[in-house]
Amino acid sequence: MRSLFPELEHRRQVHLYRRRRVSEGMQGPELRIDGRSMLGFCSNDYLGLAGHPRVIEAMQEGAARYGVGSGAAHLVNGHSAAHHQLEEELAEFTGRPRALLFSTGYMANLGVVSGLLGTGDRFYGDRLDHASLIDGGLLSRARFRRYPHGDIQLLGEWLNPRGDGRVLVATDGVFSMDGDLAPLHGLAKLCAEKEAWLMVDDAHGLGVLGREGRGSLEQFGLGVDEVPVLVGTLGKAFGTFGAFVAGSEALIETLIQQARSYIFTTALPPAVAQATRASLSLVRDEEWRREKLRMLIVLFREGASQLGLPLMASETPIQPIVVGTAQKAMAWSRGLEAEGIMVSAIRPPTVPENSSRLRVTLSAAHTEQQVLRLLDALGKLKVEDPL
Ligand SMILES: *Cc1c(COP(=O)(O)O)cnc(C)c1O
Repeated sequence: MRSLFPELEHRRQVHLYRRRRVSEGMQGPELRIDGRSMLGFCSNDYLGLAGHPRVIEAMQEGAARYGVGSGAAHLVNGHSAAHHQLEEELAEFTGRPRALLFSTGYMANLGVVSGLLGTGDRFYGDRLDHASLIDGGLLSRARFRRYPHGDIQLLGEWLNPRGDGRVLVATDGVFSMDGDLAPLHGLAKLCAEKEAWLMVDDAHGLGVLGREGRGSLEQFGLGVDEVPVLVGTLGKAFGTFGAFVAGSEALIETLIQQARSYIFTTALPPAVAQATRASLSLVRDEEWRREKLRMLIVLFREGASQLGLPLMASETPIQPIVVGTAQKAMAWSRGLEAEGIMVSAIRPPTVPENSSRLRVTLSAAHTEQQVLRLLDALGKLKVEDPL
């Protein structure tokens, strides 16, 4: 077999090589990475719940009650009371008849798209949709096309000849690398007109957007009729792990029968479901976390624009600074690292060519002082390495 080394070496040369860092200690803004203290701005723990004492305690109690592993898939004997109660609470939280837990968001998206669609059906996704939606589209055997970011007009043309099969349109609610919101009103109207189903992956909206943290759909005032399929993940604002799909009785029953990434995998540890029940109540009740986050977002954007940094049109905790080449993004990331600040450089293929960026993410767990420290470091960096 041909050696793997040349391709790895090429990756290194074009600044696309990825490596992992070893993090020790508690999840939160103050990190210990590769043995060094760092201030992190790259976590998706937007509300600061990953290390919350009540969430930790719930996980410990869950492990003591149920054991660590779930033992089997949900359809065998892995579906615990903790899973079941969490599903009911998520259905209530999202205002939908049913919710179904998946082991990860990646698997939820694969399961929904490939479980609902097959040969003869059509699937459309935004060009900037998460990789798991794209992979779901490829796996489904449906006809699959990606429309230019937010281009409702073109999507409308593509939806025109209706045909016989099912038509599913999927979009991120908040785009994970840009932080902007999908044009959900327009998409919902279009899908209603063309009799297509709309699916929203709200991995970065749930917990963060809307007064009660119900995400993009709360922000836009959309319900199960306009958006029949809602996917949420639990590893981001909820601070735990896993994902869910929420929708009608028929949708959830269909997924239980047909979603292979639901059927053929071990259920989440029940203790994780218990921890998520605790974090869900914090998400719902502690509105101050969202308010604090909004305040920090404003603080960061004001400071960054004073520094002349190119911000994107994002009102979410995802605040990318697009610098261009992968090389430059790496240089900026290393420059911040020298100041003890960790912000990850996002490069192709995660983002399009020449739009490499620093992906700054803010959390309610950050202090104002920490955000000012980031701005200070960015200011120094800009002097040394102008855009
Ligand atoms: C993180 C993410 C996922 C995947 O969720 P996991 O639970 O991490 O597998 C899916 N969609 C979007 C938009 C995401 O950002």
